[in-house]
Amino acid sequence: MRTDRREPAIRLAGRAHSAAERPDAARTLLLDLDGTLAPIAVHPALARIAEPHRRAIRALRSAGWRVAVVSGRPRHEAVALVGIPDLPVFGSHGLEGPSERDLAQVDPPVLRRLGDVERLARQLSREFPAVLIERKAGSVACGDRALAPAARTRWRQRLASSLATLDLAGLEVLRGRCVVEVRSPRATKARVLATLGVLPLRTKPDESLVALGDDRTDEDLFLAIAGVGLGVLVGPPRRTHARARLASPAAVGRFLEALADFCSTQEEAR
Ligand SMILES: [Mg+2]
Repeated sequence: MRTDRREPAIRLAGRAHSAAERPDAARTLLLDLDGTLAPIAVHPALARIAEPHRRAIRALRSAGWRVAVVSGRPRHEAVALVGIPDLPVFGSHGLEGPSERDLAQVDPPVLRRLGDVERLARQLSREFPAVLIERKAGSVACGDRALAPAARTRWRQRLASSLATLDLAGLEVLRGRCVVEVRSPRATKARVLATLGVLPLRTKPDESLVALGDDRTDEDLFLAIAGVGLGVLVGPPRRTHARARLASPAAVGRFLEALADFCSTQEEAR
């Protein structure tokens, strides 16, 4: 048997493209934003998407692929960063979007408890000014990417012991690479599958249903499509529900460009 020596991003694009040739293929790409389409920046406002990534996304849409961005950021921020008019963008882990008026409701008692979490986090962060507290539709995110490792450990210990004093009924705490997020379980990226009408229609494996992401919040999506699609972890190896991995946002760019190239080559051959 011949070994495929192409780089992982190109191989992965080849798999997705082959799957997309079947008549009932999903041809759907679900892309996380920070750490996937855009490299992680010291401050979220400094994150940027490389222009070739945008070009590839536009080309894929023209070739019939459905592409959506699913971010943990508030939707308006994600839309501004993505910068592609008409591209469906979900914010707050799927609670907002794909359009501006789409906002899933969170129970009032849960919202009140999130208010308590926000107050406590803002109070604690006075000792850690580099920590960024963000209130979103169904969560409070405490971003600590700007802290040095020792300070991050101290901050996370303080936060954990303080959160333990609050009533967190109906909420869950998610510890990611650069963020601790207290969220309503409704704020899960997996909900976009129903919104887009991708599931539960699919029952057979289809590697043209691809979800790419780098963080704990992307695992909800990887798990939801396990068996019917292809979850792709972006970044270093770790325990994951994803079945494939790309090393970095740059590799994601090469994957998108290669997939767009396969589509245009096929179009030219017709
Ligand atoms: Mg991410």
